[in-house]
Amino acid sequence: MLWYGNPESEIRDSYKNTFFCSNVIEVTEEGLAKAKYCKNRWCPICQRNKMGLMINTYGPRLQQCEDLWFLTLTKPNVPADQLKDEIKKYQALWRVIANTNVYRKAMKRGVIGIRKMECTYHAKQFLEDGRPDPWYDTYHPHLHLLISEQELAYFIISEWKRLNPEISEDAQKIEKLETAGGYLEVFKYFTKLIAKDSTGRRFFDPIHMDVIFRAMRGNRVYFRLGTTAAWGCQEISEEDEEQAAVIETDATPSFYRWLESDEFFGFYDVETGETLTELPKKGRIFDIITDSEKQYGEEGEKQGSAPSTAYSVEGRTEEGDRDEVFKPSVGSGRDAGRVQGQCRGNGTLGRSQDQGTGHVRGTDNERAEALCQRPRRGERPEREDPGP
Ligand SMILES: [Zn+2]
Repeated sequence: MLWYGNPESEIRDSYKNTFFCSNVIEVTEEGLAKAKYCKNRWCPICQRNKMGLMINTYGPRLQQCEDLWFLTLTKPNVPADQLKDEIKKYQALWRVIANTNVYRKAMKRGVIGIRKMECTYHAKQFLEDGRPDPWYDTYHPHLHLLISEQELAYFIISEWKRLNPEISEDAQKIEKLETAGGYLEVFKYFTKLIAKDSTGRRFFDPIHMDVIFRAMRGNRVYFRLGTTAAWGCQEISEEDEEQAAVIETDATPSFYRWLESDEFFGFYDVETGETLTELPKKGRIFDIITDSEKQYGEEGEKQGSAPSTAYSVEGRTEEGDRDEVFKPSVGSGRDAGRVQGQCRGNGTLGRSQDQGTGHVRGTDNERAEALCQRPRRGERPEREDPGP
């Protein structure tokens, strides 16, 4: 939907890559399942892989911290055309703080932390009392920080206020994390993918997310603060990210392709049709996607319009969303008439393994053939390759 909803976006090619993210899994002779990932920050599969890796790598150390603080640093919202510059300002302001003697000394004595840049869109048109909301249609970049020491945490807050005298006192948050898993908050998605309007309707908002993703392009989202010695582990590298996405399996060595029929989706052996995974096609997330596809499928592409409803993308993503994450199907010239199916669910290979390695539902070619030929919901065979 990011692709359909943003025909003019300069990062549209990257949106297209996400259609094909991990739609083929190779199971090697050594029993390793590997997939090719798009690594885009809007891709739920790749985000989940990354989040898992960060929790596994940094979580154990963070859990040892007995004095862990969660900070939110903000400035007033800005309109779309100022967002890119505003994000640069945040980075410049952070550099000022990180260059102070107080901060450097804290790093030397072993304080650690995580810094994360986040951005939300303010789509609420009206206030509770019915007056127009002055922040309607603005963007809200902000920094989240985890800091393993009270003294430094309070210093950062006071510095931020000193550097931004115009900001309101209550917009800055500082709280001590009492539960061991509290740090997970910072590992959540860079921006929430499912929006919610004032009536509680949940949908996908590609237009405003495109503004955010374009403004954030080339910027890292997560930074680890503190020395390697204080962390006791290396910083996560790109190689780590590749390795983390490989899992061991006892499935038959082959290539498995993501397929979608009317009732099921999953990975199927391209030769035999044997399933690596298979799941029934139903649930709340499908309703949200179907709804949003109506707005941002071919219709949305024609209109390229933003939703008229007021909503807030700042609403917390609920548990369920993280369990089922999907992409829209797209007909592609390259694959037309052959095996298709870019809709992708339950992105974790680990889960797939549980769901049915070697579980055979019709192992013959006929089944694979039937799956390939059955038209999928939302398939658009007349569409040429969705070029740039
Ligand atoms: Zn991806």
